[in-house]
Amino acid sequence: MISPEPDQNPGRHAGETAEQAGFRSRVRAWHDIHATVRSGDDLWSVPLYVEPGRAEEYFNAGRAWQRRLFEHGWAGLTWPREYGGGGGEPWQARIFSEVAVGYEEAPGFIGATIAMLGPTLLRHGTEDQKRRFLPGLLSGGLAFCQLFSEPGAGSDLAGLAARADRDGDEFVVNGQKVWNSQAQFCDWGFLLVRTDPGAPKHRGITFLLVDMATPGIETRPLVQMNGAAHFNEVFLTDVRIPVSNVVGEIGGGWGPARTVLLNESAFIGDRKGTTVMSPLLELARRHSRLEDPVVRQRLADAWARERMQRWMGETIQNAVRRGEPPPMDPSLIKLFAAESKLRTGELATALGALAVVADTGEAARWARHELMGRFAVSIGGGTNEVMRNNLAERSLGLPREPRVDRDTPWRDIPR
Ligand SMILES: Cc1cc2nc3c(=O)[nH]c(=O)nc-3n(C[C@H](O)[C@H](O)[C@H](O)COP(=O)(O)OP(=O)(O)OC[C@H]3O[C@@H](n4cnc5c(N)ncnc54)[C@H](O)[C@@H]3O)c2cc1C
Repeated sequence: MISPEPDQNPGRHAGETAEQAGFRSRVRAWHDIHATVRSGDDLWSVPLYVEPGRAEEYFNAGRAWQRRLFEHGWAGLTWPREYGGGGGEPWQARIFSEVAVGYEEAPGFIGATIAMLGPTLLRHGTEDQKRRFLPGLLSGGLAFCQLFSEPGAGSDLAGLAARADRDGDEFVVNGQKVWNSQAQFCDWGFLLVRTDPGAPKHRGITFLLVDMATPGIETRPLVQMNGAAHFNEVFLTDVRIPVSNVVGEIGGGWGPARTVLLNESAFIGDRKGTTVMSPLLELARRHSRLEDPVVRQRLADAWARERMQRWMGETIQNAVRRGEPPPMDPSLIKLFAAESKLRTGELATALGALAVVADTGEAARWARHELMGRFAVSIGGGTNEVMRNNLAERSLGLPREPRVDRDTPWRDIPR
């Protein structure tokens, strides 16, 4: 029988030093006091909140948990101490996340923001920006949303059109963003704008940090087919942003944007110790499919993919935590994760086909959620096709896609 929970061993782990085992015990002891052990009862829990008040509550619970971690010295374990981190070793962060996954509390969206923006500010931010924003980011005091995509710029992000005109010490921004996850609950955003329409598209972009309470910003939630409003449209009308909020160079925003995108792929692809094997096995058992050879193959495939994804995630995250370039292109794990998610959704449906449509029980609700959400990872953070292009060009060294507009001034590109 396959084991659905490979990393839940409370004893000393193979190859672990006494120092590492001691650290694991301390993390576990702290969680035992401050958190709730994940029980088998929440097998079918789905983080889907249709009622906006509940969605905000869930968001704020993640924020409060991040604050608790920060106050007790568990946030940003490998980040420099001067910015609120622990100055520790990558293995500490790995052990911490292995233990934390066994408990219910989690930072939720705040974790994604920290993973994307943290390394970007550490690499491209000024000293002032690091001191001003990094402690707030780590403590959950500042929640940032990503304001990149536009109705006419998703895969072709460098084609973005939101305009920023310089006026003394400020930029005045006008434009529209879309698909901005959780923007309705965030205090700040990291925003890409066009500051030089006469430059080729990758070179006229600037990366800005913006307070979401600035006059002229309107955030409109978009309701999806599952009833929840995960994303928003964000409209910017004459929004004044200080020039001191530019991350990197004016016109050089593509550099920090790429750092965000690489870290986003690594974050999305990392399973963070989670597994879908328990619900899949339980569904197979309930629908008497455990002896079905085809189902058994698909379950084994899901299990093997989880293991591979976990290994890739750990390998990439260890490098990220050391501040080193990832040893493999993060597009690889992002693509792998997207294909796994697709397979899980389809397997969940196949295991209880009719029940998924007709049943009102919690198992069917879980399977429906997997089915409806199965394309999210294939699109968010860059589509599978874009990931394949990245891999072809960056990892395999294949000829670049023909790009006729690469050296053309952005304003001359037909839209
Ligand atoms: C769950 C989720 C969360 C998201 N969160 C955010 C967020 O917080 N902030 C944000 O700014 N955006 C966010 N997005 C938006 C996301 O980044 C875009 O949806 C994505 O980059 C694709 O862009 P698009 O939707 O405009 O599709 P398009 O770029 O229009 O693509 C349409 C189709 O064309 C294909 N295609 C496009 N170009 C090529 C090419 N060169 N070669 C081959 N095929 C190609 C694509 O793969 C796709 O199948 C989120 C999206 C999702 C699903």
